[in-house]
Amino acid sequence: MGQSNTLVSYHKALMELSHQPGFTTLPRADKLAALTGLIARLLSVKRVGVWLYSAGRDRIRCEWLHQADREEQTPPPFTLELRQDSHPDYFNAIGSERVVTVADAASDPRTRSFLEGYLKPEGIGALLDSPIFDGERLSGVLCIEDGACREWTVPEISLAVAVADTISLINTHEAWLHSKRTIEYMNRYDAMTGLANMRSLKERIEQLMDGLPGNGCDPMALIWVDLDRLKSINDGLGPQAGDQVIAGLGRRLADVEARGKDMLARIGGDEFALLIRRHTDADNLECIARAIHAAMAEPIVLNEQALTVSVSLGICLFPSDCQDAEDLLRGAEAAMYHAKREGRSRSIQFDSAIQMTARSRFALERDLRSAIERAELDVFYQPIMDRSGQRLESLEALVRWNHPERGWLAPIEFLDVARSAGLMVALGNRVLQAVCGYWRLCTDAGLSIPTISVNLSAEQVQVSSLPDQVRRLCDAYDMPVSALHFEVTEDAIQGDLHIIRSVLEGLVKAGAELAIDDFGTGYSSLSRLKSLPFSRIKIDRSFISDLPFDEDDCAITLSILGLARGLGLSVVAEGVETEDHERWLCQQNCDFLQGYRYSRPLPADEFTARFLQPAHKNAD
Ligand code: C2E
Ligand code: CA
Ligand code: CA
Repeated sequence: MGQSNTLVSYHKALMELSHQPGFTTLPRADKLAALTGLIARLLSVKRVGVWLYSAGRDRIRCEWLHQADREEQTPPPFTLELRQDSHPDYFNAIGSERVVTVADAASDPRTRSFLEGYLKPEGIGALLDSPIFDGERLSGVLCIEDGACREWTVPEISLAVAVADTISLINTHEAWLHSKRTIEYMNRYDAMTGLANMRSLKERIEQLMDGLPGNGCDPMALIWVDLDRLKSINDGLGPQAGDQVIAGLGRRLADVEARGKDMLARIGGDEFALLIRRHTDADNLECIARAIHAAMAEPIVLNEQALTVSVSLGICLFPSDCQDAEDLLRGAEAAMYHAKREGRSRSIQFDSAIQMTARSRFALERDLRSAIERAELDVFYQPIMDRSGQRLESLEALVRWNHPERGWLAPIEFLDVARSAGLMVALGNRVLQAVCGYWRLCTDAGLSIPTISVNLSAEQVQVSSLPDQVRRLCDAYDMPVSALHFEVTEDAIQGDLHIIRSVLEGLVKAGAELAIDDFGTGYSSLSRLKSLPFSRIKIDRSFISDLPFDEDDCAITLSILGLARGLGLSVVAEGVETEDHERWLCQQNCDFLQGYRYSRPLPADEFTARFLQPAHKNAD
């Protein structure tokens, strides 16, 4: 058979193997066994091994070895390990060559160093090695070894490279599956407590409601549990103390014995929900409520400080108080707020009076509408620092509302209302106006103000005139559009790609830069992201909070950083709270850092005082 026929027959055999139905779902060891076995058979070689680099890249260790003289291939424990410091020439070759062909291993400068310790005892005369990758990273070597000296032919070399590439693809696929699994997990479970999250709870309620024949024979109760005074714990002892209290609360709730308990979920910062099935008689619910309050009796000890915490409970029943999952949740929440107003550490069951306060959502909507009309919303600013955490790089504008009766409200407390009332575009315009006004004020005062990042809602990115509006607004304030960044969440770009693309491209054309916000939490496809003109990625703070201790979070953050590098985007990490976060992110070359470690969002005047400097100072 001529060389080209041989080459074709090798590749055909490899294709047949790797395209076999079910091959991709085989366990890794079985895939490696099949691939190495194929090479051994086709090339009649003594051994075929797959070797992995250690984390520090200073060693390789055998992961799989096919030995032709054995009937049955058993997986390692092979303790075969080769160190870079003893074999620098070989490691260099593997790191820089597409394939390393060694006809006479004992005399070849790249493999000579193995003579006494490896080649002689293992009886190896010739090597054909090809690097294996994991994404962009060199992660291992495919080693084909024969007993005698041997000149490797072109078809043999080509097969070695093709099998190494197949293993690289397997690696990439495995990494992708792993991050997909962790992201799916994070979408269903709360990372801090390991409990189900709001989404899982809603699905469970809906599932139980769907299972009902419709005559209410399997009633449910939802108990909404809210920690009292989390804010004062956060303010007084720091957000980490708040987190510890929440985690402790989760554990105690999990230990509460409740008849009919179906699911315990963490549904918000300091909010939990307990779903009770069947046993929804008043006595049982009262008994559960008492048990929950009793579980708070013992103080929580934090850094040798004993904290007494209490919770407020709201209870709502299905089907007597409501018709669907949404209303069950809303009713329990409304009852909880009612309990708080009654003086905390109480439980209250949903009733018609509460239904009235639930209607206060409409009052809130009315107030918000007028606050937007009268430009009464405020904008706070949070610094974004360079990678060392020392220098101000830009700032993010975050909307706030000082409600006449309820005091300062954070966006989560009113953005939903704005969204359902169709007020998002008007709200966004007000924020933009305020931002331009702030920029003008600072510039007139001779201060040097870096780029301001403004959040855009899903509604705004669908308004085709947005780029023109932005241009006109900036003109009115005599401000370049390039003084702005816009942040768009993954979810916000799920709509009509045609419109969204034209709006985003229009903004970039006008001079602004775009960032993807809360990256990692949404479902955007990579192709969609690649087709839009983003220049930075903001990693959601849920991935940052447990760095560098949580392996999954480290892996996800590293893969986002790698992805960003591949796409030529810069990366901002959100929610940087500790020195550990900062150090790890800096080591991984994350470009920018944002979080409470540097500052909470501040009112404009406080931000100016703390972070801005006269323009001329920056010039020298
Ligand atoms: P976001 O865009 O992800 O904004 C960052 C949020 O994280 C802010 O919450 C900020 O206060 C908080 N944060 C910053 N550093 C840390 C930290 O170290 N630890 C913790 N735990 N949190 C940190 P905020 O201001 O409550 O805003 C919440 C969300 O509301 C924003 O999330 C954004 O999606 C939305 N939002 C805020 N302002 C606007 C706006 O003007 N327009 C639109 N459309 N959405 C806005
Ligand atoms: Ca943002
Ligand atoms: Ca964000």
